[in-house]
Amino acid sequence: MSAASFNTLPEAVRALARADFGEVAARFEQAGFRVRLPAKGILSVKSAVSDAARASVLLSVGVHGDETGPIEMAAYALDALSRTPDALAVDLMLCVGSVDAIAVGKRFIDADLNRMFRLQRGDLAGTFEAGRADTIIAATRDFFEGTGPRRWHLDLHTAIRGSRYPKFAIVPQLIAEEARTELIAWLGLAGIEAVIMNPASAGTYSYWSAEQHGGAASTVELGRIGTLGQNDLSQFSEAADALAGLLRGVPQSGGKAPLVFDTAQSITKLSDGFRMSFGRETENFTPLKKGDVIATDGATVYTVQHDEEYVVFPNPDVRVGLRAGIMVVRVD
Ligand code: ZN
Repeated sequence: MSAASFNTLPEAVRALARADFGEVAARFEQAGFRVRLPAKGILSVKSAVSDAARASVLLSVGVHGDETGPIEMAAYALDALSRTPDALAVDLMLCVGSVDAIAVGKRFIDADLNRMFRLQRGDLAGTFEAGRADTIIAATRDFFEGTGPRRWHLDLHTAIRGSRYPKFAIVPQLIAEEARTELIAWLGLAGIEAVIMNPASAGTYSYWSAEQHGGAASTVELGRIGTLGQNDLSQFSEAADALAGLLRGVPQSGGKAPLVFDTAQSITKLSDGFRMSFGRETENFTPLKKGDVIATDGATVYTVQHDEEYVVFPNPDVRVGLRAGIMVVRVD
């Protein structure tokens, strides 16, 4: 975005987009919290006295630099909370993922940051985002170290393409049942209409938190992508309210239970010969019938196995070796 339009943004949003936590950090510090700024774009606020019963909540936004809506939402949430700091009832880490990509209005610098959270990065290893992921991984480990068992990670995104369910979330299957149930109930409260259970990591930040730190973690798609300062924040209002309640420890109930989907198959791009039957503009949750060809890749043919499967995140343009889409089926 241009320098002129950046300067017209509300101060709280501008500060967060610049990874400047100065003012909010000072407010929490003055209220007696342990405040740390372990790296650019990362703030952690912990209670002065360690308490295993206290939940820890990691909130990440801007992992994709062009998904600005959640950055605005988080900026307002943090600003409001910092004005009544004693209301903070959890240990909180806020991570603005791709600060450098946000600064230049791009999705990423070299490669998708949300594919870097894995031990083997292959040809992604030398990218700018691999270094950023290492920084985030270290800060995440430090944040969860020594905290109690109630660990949350909400990684907030907005989608590029349309979706039959505009608000949906990916939840790692490996999260312990009780925590998973609580997480899905909260997602319903936040206005999430559909939840996809994911059995295997695609290198995402939320899966990393679930796998490495036992977090109740989710990649949450909150609606359509927009320009910083011009997002329709009304589409995030339920999520903003649910988040405010979570951070303040307010007992929450209500919300509509999301529809639950299982991952039927993950479509991996094996070679440059990969051809998908539809493009990346295809709506999420578009239904396909049994036998329909999803993609071909040399001798490999991906077809629909169940009576009906829905395609999510179709993207034939990913790098070889990465996930080009997920096929999901209704559980209930
Ligand atoms: Zn995203």
